[in-house]
Amino acid sequence: MTRRPGAWRRQICKDLMTVMQIPFHRPDISEDDIRGVAETLQSGWITMGEKTFEFERRFAEITGARHAIAVNSCTAALHLALVAAGVGRGDEVIVPVWTFAATAEAVWYCGALPVLADVERDTLLVDVSDVQKRITKKTKAIIPVHYAGQPAAIDEIREIAQAGKIAVIDDAAHSFPAWYGGKMIGGISDMTCFSFYATKTITTGEGGMITTDRDDYAAMLKTLRLHGISHDAWNRYSDKGSWMYDVTEIGFKYNMSDISAALGISQLARYKDMWIKRKRIAEMYSEAFKEVPRIGWCQVREGRESAWYLFPIILDVERLTITRDDFILELRARGITCSVHFIPLHMFSYYKKAGYRAEQYPNAEWAFPRTLSLPIYPGMTVEEVRYVADNVIEVIAAHAK
Ligand SMILES: *Cc1c(COP(=O)(O)O)cnc(C)c1O
Repeated sequence: MTRRPGAWRRQICKDLMTVMQIPFHRPDISEDDIRGVAETLQSGWITMGEKTFEFERRFAEITGARHAIAVNSCTAALHLALVAAGVGRGDEVIVPVWTFAATAEAVWYCGALPVLADVERDTLLVDVSDVQKRITKKTKAIIPVHYAGQPAAIDEIREIAQAGKIAVIDDAAHSFPAWYGGKMIGGISDMTCFSFYATKTITTGEGGMITTDRDDYAAMLKTLRLHGISHDAWNRYSDKGSWMYDVTEIGFKYNMSDISAALGISQLARYKDMWIKRKRIAEMYSEAFKEVPRIGWCQVREGRESAWYLFPIILDVERLTITRDDFILELRARGITCSVHFIPLHMFSYYKKAGYRAEQYPNAEWAFPRTLSLPIYPGMTVEEVRYVADNVIEVIAAHAK
């Protein structure tokens, strides 16, 4: 008798009336991370200073960008990038409808209008032909989101943007590290915004980074992140600088602290190990679901490498007797916590009131009741990944029609 791998363990679990408990995320914090933060706490300098600049230098080196500017979130990074690109009142910025609230929120901060574009059904990445259709004379920027870690079609987006002198600002909150045509995300677009939020692929607790090759953008971003002051706090207070400074812009309080940067430096030292672990989990899921009907997942396009921040699955709900919501509850009962990325922006009450209409986003409408994200993080054991895959397959089999 042949059994699917894991069947025996499931039997044992059932016999013991226990299930494994698998959270949606567990942060990956090492002894070195803790030591790095502790050293900074003891160093006498805890806000933005040498650690932040070191983190920036290393991040720029890895991504291949000329400049990296650290801030306290990706939301702040997106806001500053839009300001640096000159986005203001009356402008339009194209954003995928399938993203986290922060992407469009940063556009509202500028007094500009987020123009939402639909996504492709197979990747849930922004649909370039839909972006093209929504370009007007008022379009000042396009923000592609590298959803789940897969790079969006940035060559095509850059092409249509250049024709209209439109800035391309990547929302790379999911995509460190990811590669597009052999180049790393962060070294390609005008500006690229990363997140180091607690659940992201590398974390500083809270934090973000903007990378750019342009010196003028970099200078502007450095000024804007700290009250529009023309020198960093370090230069202000160290022997090298003086007490004198100027305010050249109305800036923001968006700087990173050295406590966060110390964690960032330490996390960055093993980003590749963590990425390999994520990739391996994605391969295990893909292998397990290969022959299983009624389940799909984002297929990374040729010439691109995903960061594997998320593993969203797409259920063929027409051939199942269970809804996506109940599917999540069923997995929860088996000890597995899943999530949904994302609730499309046009479904939120604020956006409804602002006049965004469901008919404009047929693919997002199609995908939303079908999509859920499975746990994927470096600390997951092989047994945990198998347990998740086996249970997904079991729930599908139990509800097939
Ligand atoms: C997490 C996230 C952000 C915001 O990142 P913060 O660092 O929390 O501000 C922006 N865009 C996307 C797509 C995200 O998932």
